[in-house]
This record gives sequence, structure tokens and C-alpha cells, in this order.
Amino acid sequence: MTSLFPALSDDPSSRPALRFGERSLSYAELAAAAGVVAGRVRGAGRVAVWAAPSLETAVGVVGVLLAGAAAVPLNPKSGEKELGHILSDSAPALVLAAPGVELPAPLRALRRIDVDVDADVDADVDVRGGSGAAAGEAVGAEDPALVVYTSGTTGPPKGAVIPRRAIAATLDALADAWQWTEEDVLVHGLPLFHVHGLVLGVLGPLRRGGSVRHLGRFDTQGVTRELSGGATMLFGVPTMYHRIAEALPADPELAKALAGARLLVSGSAALPVHDHERIAAATGRRVVERYGMTETLMNTSVRADGEARAGTVGVPLPGVELRLVEDDGAPVRADDGEGVGEIQVRGPNLFTEYLNRPDATAAAFTADGWFRTGDVAVRDPDGYVRIVGRKATDLIKSGGYKIGAGEIENALLEHPGVREAAVTGEPDADLGERIVAWVVPADPRKPPQEGELADHVARRLAPHKRPRVVRYLDALPRNDMGKIMKRALPS
Ligand code: ATP
Ligand code: MG
Repeated sequence: MTSLFPALSDDPSSRPALRFGERSLSYAELAAAAGVVAGRVRGAGRVAVWAAPSLETAVGVVGVLLAGAAAVPLNPKSGEKELGHILSDSAPALVLAAPGVELPAPLRALRRIDVDVDADVDADVDVRGGSGAAAGEAVGAEDPALVVYTSGTTGPPKGAVIPRRAIAATLDALADAWQWTEEDVLVHGLPLFHVHGLVLGVLGPLRRGGSVRHLGRFDTQGVTRELSGGATMLFGVPTMYHRIAEALPADPELAKALAGARLLVSGSAALPVHDHERIAAATGRRVVERYGMTETLMNTSVRADGEARAGTVGVPLPGVELRLVEDDGAPVRADDGEGVGEIQVRGPNLFTEYLNRPDATAAAFTADGWFRTGDVAVRDPDGYVRIVGRKATDLIKSGGYKIGAGEIENALLEHPGVREAAVTGEPDADLGERIVAWVVPADPRKPPQEGELADHVARRLAPHKRPRVVRYLDALPRNDMGKIMKRALPS
């Protein structure tokens, strides 16, 4: 297939490509450094990458892709048990890491290659295949590019095998939806071992020929600095936009910086309506939501030239087919805002398989090739998709109704006494399931009363959506992407 990164293969320029903290690389320097990596990993099959938020990780992954091998990004915060699982599952030939980084025990048995960016930026390599660097043109579109482990929100992480075709398709569809060009400078502070931070946040700008500035650790000061200093786009997860919403009232510089951005994008979990509205009120900008998964890369987005409405993830991206189906597989009858169904998708953005899990792979697809996302949604009359939540944990069947946890969570978050909220269903003799609200109070000394919260929800939504039980916590269990892990709530 043609190159994933045209800006690296055709006489790479001195334009900026990557910046992590104080360190940056132009396209020419990236081509040289990644070309050295490519030369060293060629023929390796799968290559583990110690995916700290660093220049070395970005150069390592690009090098692996130039070589036509597949990168397996590892979460540096993983415990040894999780690392052990990923290593035995993916069986990488070697591991890439920055020089001097100490790797944990399970990785020490692997052959290690240091990604020595500072030494390699001056190397004289030809990424098109000369000087032993890359075999880019000989690589097929269906060859694996990445094995990315899912976030583990609903169960143990599964290794999704992502072909080169899917990366190209999703990034080009996003370029269309977001009018994403080589002029764009992206700022983000996301981890690099999931598709959000790595595929969208690093490979995305590089495919366009634009650039990315990584914050290392996300903070609102970094967002202000970069957006006032020439960055045009921000990618974040809802917990980051929550911090922005909280900081805005006392930070006019942040408000100004966000107001000047071309595009603010949120994904990986639902952006609470309350945070969306607070950011819009303070900056005049509406955050654009997109919806994707490790297995499918991106499925839908609000378009840059479309209307960003709170609580929606927009429309299917170009090339993506999307349908909502009932439990029995029949299409949802009315796409009129009432018809709740599981989202199924088909298109060039889909993964190939779960590594070593033919059972899970087979179960994930219908006979005619649609991928079952496990997420449920409704559609606005004009086709905008509203995610209700995950079929397994967020759809509560109570008193003959199907109730989405998300809208109750959104209503609870609008109560001034609530800092965080999660809603689940638990078995109930009368109702089938009863609605349980897990609440982190804004002031732990004065938690809002159960009856008051139930009335608050009933007034905003409908009486049958009132929580029957409220349980108070100091914090909600969240994973490294800030996603609420409902299976880890106390039972
Ligand atoms: P696991 O599959 O291991 O349980 P996970 O599903 O959280 O973990 P990911 O592939 O990282 O792993 O996340 C994809 C899921 O994130 C989607 O299926 C969906 O539930 C959720 N998601 C992503 N973007 C959005 C969004 N904009 N709004 C609501 N949910 C979203
Ligand atoms: Mg999942």
C-alpha cells in the first residue's frame, strides 16, 4: 500500500513534526531517527514499545510502521501481572525503549533496542527502503500495524489487531470531518498506549503533515500556553474537559486560548452535558465529540462544519456504515429518538481480530460482517447519534422501561452538591432492576440527601428515572483514561 506517512517519504522537510516538552523533531529528523529504528526492527513481526509519553515512543512506533512490522504499545504503569499477560499473548520479538529507562522484570527477558533519538536524528537513511531502513512499499494494506489492548473497562484487556488499512481509513475520514490539514498543530496530553493518544494524537498529525505538541502531563496551564502559542486543535478525554470546565471561571487566559482554537475534540467516554455547556458558556466554543473504540478506531464525529450539540457524538464518518439493532438483531424500528438499539458498524476502519481469541472475534461480528460494539444509542431525527451507554452496564431495565444510565448521570451532575456520579441497575423483586446512584459529594461534610437527588432527577427527566438508592463514595473507580469502571464499584 502507499505510505502511511507521505510527509516522511518524499524528501522530508524541516517543518516541525513532533514536540514533547522541550524536545522536538522536524520531519527530516523524524525520518532519520525512525529510519534507524526501522532498519533495526525489520522482519521482527511484533515489536513491543515501552509507551511512556515521550519522543522515543513516537519515533519507535513510526519506525516499526516504516519497517512493515507491528507495534505493541505497553502501558508503563501496568503491573507485572498485566504486562506478563500482554507479553505472553502478543509474543513480541523485541522491545523498544528510551536509553536508560529501567524496564520491569517481565520485559527483561526480551531483546531490547534503545531508541536513541538524539544520536539518530543525523543519520543518513532513506525511509523508502534504501540503506536497509524500510520496506514500506512491500507491505500490504491488511498487514498488522498495531496490536492495541482495549482499556479493560468491562473485562480483561483484549489485543485488537489493527491493520494499516484501518489507520489510513480512519485518519483520512477524520481529516474530512475535521478539515484537518498540514497547517494544524495539535496539543494533547493523552497516554500513548491507546488509539486515542497514539493513532489520533500522534499518527494523525504525521499522516496530515502537520505537527503535534505533547504536554507530557495534562494541565490547564499547558493547554493555555500551547493554544495561545499557535496550536490549533486540542484532543482530550472527558476528565480533562471537566478540569477545564472547573478552571474556567477563575482563568480568563484559558478561556481566551480555548476561544481561539480551531477545534476542541473529546472522546473515549461520554462528555457530561454539564461540562460541555459550562465550556460553551465561558468560551463560546462547543467541544466536538467523536465516538470510537480500539477495535473500530473512529466511527462517528460531529463535523467541524456541523452543529456540535451537547450529548451527541455526531454522524457516521465517511466510509463507515452504522445501524442500531434490537436484541433479536432486527433493525430498530423508528430512528426518531425513542428507538434504542445496539450500535453495529461496518467499514474500512475495523480491526482484523482479537489476538489469540477466535471465540471472541467470532462473537463480535454478525454473519454479514457488522461489528457489534456493545454500545447502545438512539438517533436524533437528523441522524445525530446519542450514545446511551454500554449494553452490559448502562442500560437499566426497570418497571418495563429501558433507561440509560448516562442521562441520569448527566442530571445528577447538574446538582450543585454532586461532584461525580455513576448510575447502575441492581436486581429488584418488583421492578426487575432498580436504579442506583453512586455519588461523590462536592462537599463530603454536606452530602445532598437521597430524596433531594431523586426529586432532582425526577423533575429533570421523568419520575420512573429517579434513583431508588443513593450510595456515597469518596471517588469513583476510574482507569488510566479516566473512564468509570462500573465493574469495580463496591457490591
Ligand atoms: P474494554 O473493551 O476492555 O472493556 P473499553 O471498551 O473501555 O474497554 P476502548 O476500546 O478504549 O476500551 O473504549 C471504547 C469504548 O469507549 C466504546 O465502546 C464506548 O463505550 C466508549 N466511548 C468512546 N468514545 C465515546 C463517546 N464519545 N461517548 C461515549 N462513550 C464513548
Ligand atoms: Mg470495549
